[in-house]
Amino acid sequence: MIKEIRAKVLLSHVKQPDTWFGIKYNMNLYRGCQHQCIYCDSRSECYQIENFADILIKVNAIELLRQELARKRVKDTIGTGSMNDPYMPLEKELNLTGRALQVIAQFGFPVHIVTKSDLVLRDLGTLRQINRRYAAVSFTITTADDELGKKLEPGAPPPSKRFEALRVLTEHGIHTGVTMMPILPFIEDDEENITRIVEKAHEHGAAYIIPWFGMSLRDRQRAYYYEQLERLFPGVRQKYERAFGDQYHCVTNNAGRLAELFDSLCSRYGIATRVEPYAPESGAQLSMF
Ligand code: SF4
Repeated sequence: MIKEIRAKVLLSHVKQPDTWFGIKYNMNLYRGCQHQCIYCDSRSECYQIENFADILIKVNAIELLRQELARKRVKDTIGTGSMNDPYMPLEKELNLTGRALQVIAQFGFPVHIVTKSDLVLRDLGTLRQINRRYAAVSFTITTADDELGKKLEPGAPPPSKRFEALRVLTEHGIHTGVTMMPILPFIEDDEENITRIVEKAHEHGAAYIIPWFGMSLRDRQRAYYYEQLERLFPGVRQKYERAFGDQYHCVTNNAGRLAELFDSLCSRYGIATRVEPYAPESGAQLSMF
């Protein structure tokens, strides 16, 4: 089901310092996500999304964004892409993310987008404008194998498309890299997968890769994930149950070895393992703002 709703507030303030992306304000233009990744954490009860397959569109988002940005005294990084993908297929027709970026560009705020879609290239012009201050795009890529990607992230464009989009953004000077998370235990936690992701990221010009060798699992998210494991990877659910029980953080049992391999590959290719966040001092010097 796709439904329109009116939101009361659009931007939420990120209270804890965000060490991964340096985000200060979080923006969700939709609720629910058409990419339907089988491991998605947004199915967890704490987020109160009853049916994650339902997509709610915040029809007054652009109007709210204008009002809220006009009131912000600190021009700090706006993040999007944590609870849904801002470039899910519906975005192609609605252009809600595209219009929000235009508003952000007008107000001169920095931005960090996390996505699994090459549709972000549609907004390249606006991103270049925002990048006079700061724009970063992180592509979530957990496997370099398109076939495996189709099973794990059925509604998202394949990893190969994401790598191609990464190359284009890098060529246009956008700070672009890979969020390599989650790495699913017993499915993606092999050295070959990690090596292929880092090599492809290098070939396509990634500035950074942020890794996590494991996943989170809780309540409704776990129930859905286990159903999908039974359907797609017979026998793997039992491995999870034996290895992790009710644990929330499920780290791969070879995380240490994978981290060593990852670090050595990144240092060989000169890829950073963290995002270069927005630095307000340098942004403040730009005359156009
Ligand atoms: S793209 Fe992100 S938010 Fe959307 S289903 Fe996948 S993990 Fe969840």
